[in-house]
Amino acid sequence: MQRIVRALAAATLGLPLALSAVTGSAETTTTGSEQPRPCHQRMALTFDDGPSHYRTQTLRTLRREHVPATFFDTGMRVAANPQFAGFEAREGHLVLNHTWSHPRLSALTPVQVRSQVRRSQRVLRQAGAPMPFKLLRPPFGDVNEAVSTELTRLGYRYVTWDVVAVDWDVTTTSAEIRNTIVKEFRPGLVILMHDGPVDSAAGTAVQTALPQIIRRARQQGYCFGLLNQLGQVVPAKLPASRAAIPRVINPVPYLPLESYSGTQRPPEPYVIVDPKEEL
Ligand SMILES: [Zn+2]
Repeated sequence: MQRIVRALAAATLGLPLALSAVTGSAETTTTGSEQPRPCHQRMALTFDDGPSHYRTQTLRTLRREHVPATFFDTGMRVAANPQFAGFEAREGHLVLNHTWSHPRLSALTPVQVRSQVRRSQRVLRQAGAPMPFKLLRPPFGDVNEAVSTELTRLGYRYVTWDVVAVDWDVTTTSAEIRNTIVKEFRPGLVILMHDGPVDSAAGTAVQTALPQIIRRARQQGYCFGLLNQLGQVVPAKLPASRAAIPRVINPVPYLPLESYSGTQRPPEPYVIVDPKEEL
């Protein structure tokens, strides 16, 4: 299903699918004290729905492991904590559009679709994310013909993903997240993770799984790249930096916590927002 959506996206664009043949030139990768190794195959780590309270920890792990990532952030969360977007871009990551408030775009009017995309685009740019190209990940991978038409009018292409664990559910363990993703490893793989999803308090298990996924990938000879404007994995490096990693300073907006259970709430500070107002 997800592959079909990606295939449709490429077909709509009249572009060849090159999901498993993105290898590029050889490069070397190092982790800590390990010897440099040639890298002939790469994958992309992408994080949706942020920036959440967990983003600081994600950025810390990525810096420690020298891994660039692509963030599909929601505008309402970027507006609440705009200190992340510019930092992430300077750090060597890619920050792209995941709509303003994470609705199912196929349920919206064309005017609402345009508003979701443009409002988020505006706040991302104001926060210092240059968005070198217009690539959007639709919430839930939900795109129909009408949505696709509006995105094209706005100059956007869209991308979904190849593998995702049920990491938005607070009952999913870090081992389950890791194993789901590791067993799908292949060149050109687009991995979707959530470091604190919009609709749940999950996030801690992702933080545990993330370095394990990175190390398993390296053990198997993979390195990590960013997405290009077609949603394909391309080479990228994370430059060394000592700049302070931002923290959440304002309450993180959450839509009603559908996946929240029991006492597992997101870390403070957070605020529950009315989805109708956010449209
Ligand atoms: Zn999402």
